[in-house]
Formats: sequence, C-alpha cells, structure tokens
Amino acid sequence: MAKLYFRYGAMGASKSANALMVQYNYLERGKKALLCKPALDKRDGDLVVHSRMGLEAPCLTAEELLAREEAFFTGKEKPDCIIVDEAQFLTAAQVEDFVKVVDEYKIPVICYGLKSDFRSLLFEGSKRLLELADEIEEIPTICWCGKKARFNARYVGDTLVREGETIVLGANDAYTPLCRKHYYEGRLRP
Ligand SMILES: [Zn+2]
Repeated sequence: MAKLYFRYGAMGASKSANALMVQYNYLERGKKALLCKPALDKRDGDLVVHSRMGLEAPCLTAEELLAREEAFFTGKEKPDCIIVDEAQFLTAAQVEDFVKVVDEYKIPVICYGLKSDFRSLLFEGSKRLLELADEIEEIPTICWCGKKARFNARYVGDTLVREGETIVLGANDAYTPLCRKHYYEGRLRP
C-alpha cells in the first residue's frame, strides 16, 4: 500500500540530506524517485534541493508536478516515489492533492519539512501533513545543551525573536535549533 509520509525535524536535522539519500537509494535500484519542493522556497535561487553537507540534486516545483495530467501518474512515466523537500511551505490544498496521488495513483509520497516556525506555531503545510499522513516520523536534532531540539529559534545578533511576520525560513545563519527551555529563556549558547 502506498503511504503518505511526513518526516519532520528542526533546522539542522539533515532533512534535505535525508531526502537526497532516499532519492539516491531509489535510483540505485533502477527506480524513479521524483524530487520536488514548493515554489515558495526560493532560497537556492533555482530548482535544486541542497543540503548543508554539500549534497544536491535538481528538482521540480510541487506546483508543476501536481499540475501534470493523469496520464503522467498512471502511464509508463509513472514515478515509483515522490519526495517533497521543504514541505512546510505546501498549502493545505497541495497536501490534499498529494493525498490523492497516494490513494488514487498508489504512489508513495515522502515529505520532509519543519513542523513549526520561529514563533513555535505549526506551518500550514505541516499542520495538514500531521492531520493526514499515514506515517509521521521525527528526525531528531539537538540543542547546544544536548537535549532534543524541537524549536527553531530566529535571532538577530544575540537576541532571540519569537514574534513578528512569518518569513520564509531559509538562511541558516539566522536560525538555530533549541530545546523548549532554552527557546523560552532565549539562550542561544552556554
Ligand atoms: Zn537546551
């Protein structure tokens, strides 16, 4: 049975690297795994899934993938798997479209993304994925204190920012993963 997977983690949890490794494993077995990300994520300036480790691969936008005709998902072009990076930026409607890809075309869809933003609120795409996914898995990362980091702290200089406009999480230098205690204390380091 094809399933919808949501694998989430805080900044720095190697989500993109995981996505790229899953695609590689499919390709190595002669299977077709399509990589995509929401068009909103423009941090790479082009259509590339990039990991901090230096791995990267070209991708489609989720928008163009979901706009494909039925023949694409059922004919000989049919992918064996679809991998979505930066899935937090999907709209709720796009998550529902991926559910159809799973249930009607029987193609597994594996989504990687952040669960919550720098205010600690769920992203729209992540919320819908938590509601609809068959399998939900946390990719762990740790705070500087060694505890599990579930919060994405945004900071300016040495000051943690917990309110304000939702802005696209992207530049790694302005965000750091923290545990809940240090997120609320605003302690970015020992
Ligand atoms: Zn901590």
